[in-house]
Amino acid sequence: MISVDEALAALFALVSPLASEEVRLRKASGRVLAQAAEATRDQPPFSTSSMDGYAMRSADAMEGAKLAVIGEAAAGHRFHGTVAPGQAVRIFTGAPLPEGADHVEIQENVTRDGDQIRLNSPEAATANIRPLGGDFRIGDTVAAPRRLSPADIALLASMNVAHVSVTRRPVVALISTGDELVMPGETPGPDQIIASNTLGLEALLSAAGAEPRVLPIARDTPESLESAFRFTRGADLIVTIGGASDGDHDLVRKVAGSQGLSQSFYKVAMRPGKPLMAGRLGGTPIIGLPGNPVSALVCGHVFLCPIVHAMLGLPAEPAARGKAPLAHDMGKNGPREHYMRARLGEDGALEVFDRQDSSLLGLLSRADALAIRPPHDPPRKAGEYLDYLRLA
Ligand code: AMP
Ligand code: MG
Repeated sequence: MISVDEALAALFALVSPLASEEVRLRKASGRVLAQAAEATRDQPPFSTSSMDGYAMRSADAMEGAKLAVIGEAAAGHRFHGTVAPGQAVRIFTGAPLPEGADHVEIQENVTRDGDQIRLNSPEAATANIRPLGGDFRIGDTVAAPRRLSPADIALLASMNVAHVSVTRRPVVALISTGDELVMPGETPGPDQIIASNTLGLEALLSAAGAEPRVLPIARDTPESLESAFRFTRGADLIVTIGGASDGDHDLVRKVAGSQGLSQSFYKVAMRPGKPLMAGRLGGTPIIGLPGNPVSALVCGHVFLCPIVHAMLGLPAEPAARGKAPLAHDMGKNGPREHYMRARLGEDGALEVFDRQDSSLLGLLSRADALAIRPPHDPPRKAGEYLDYLRLA
């Protein structure tokens, strides 16, 4: 059995970054920028007032000064003229600073009488001016690769970048296997259950930036699984769920094998998730996940998300870990890396659930972290630190 790190390295070796495509900026949130985007203008494009008030020369910004108001500058409407000594221009936030002025006095510090103003207590130290290019200059870039956040979208919009080059979303074919499964909303027979982790994985993959395609459930016959594999054409990654162990009805490796599977590994020293399989099927990377709902989703967090990120051109690295102190003592761990459902308390301590059966989705839904016990981890005391994966 290989370690989680070895399995992840083998998986990274099966995938590579996909090609890029051009999309409209407003469709680019959450996508991964494939090519640096460059500002085509300065922001602000002119020095601008950050307050409503009066623009003047700083030499005139003195207590008791009386200035003549010679015009107005509003956002979108500059004042065409020059502010001379003894003069001021009424100005509003976002308006270009008039020539000659290098200070804006806020209106709260000014008494106006007709076209005259008197300065009460000027804020000499605060010019209330946003200088040209103070945010970014022409040629400044947003570097790739980078997953675009709403703030990035606003920044790129401000740079007047209307289209960006992003990595194509990996198409992931999801095949659930099992005679016992029906899809949510269907009526299960007396011995049937609802396929649950299928939709959980679909959600997880979408959030990671992939384009999951849920295929019809494959029954536990070679023909049904063969026909499911035929539907994977065009996918960048095939993910099967269940049927990965060595039982009589576990057909994924047998059927994939008969279709030319080149296996990279089978079985990983982890809990839950041991019967994980990976390889290539007709040139397409394939991952066989265990069917137990929690196993499948834990493998999703530990393996699928990092390889989707790698396919998107993001760095090929394990899921980000945090460290937190244990809220209680724990016994020693066995020979497999254990991903344990846990909650981070308000004090930041990890409370690891007592029950860890890999079928219990209710506990996974309540968990906000997976505490990680390395293989053969000795007993731990409350207050000792453990690594964890955050479940968002
Ligand atoms: P298997 O790996 O096929 O032996 O499945 C292990 C356990 O997970 C069995 O109890 C299955 O009924 C269950 N299981 C398999 N696939 C799914 C699925 N897509 N959703 C929910 N449970 C599943
Ligand atoms: Mg099965």
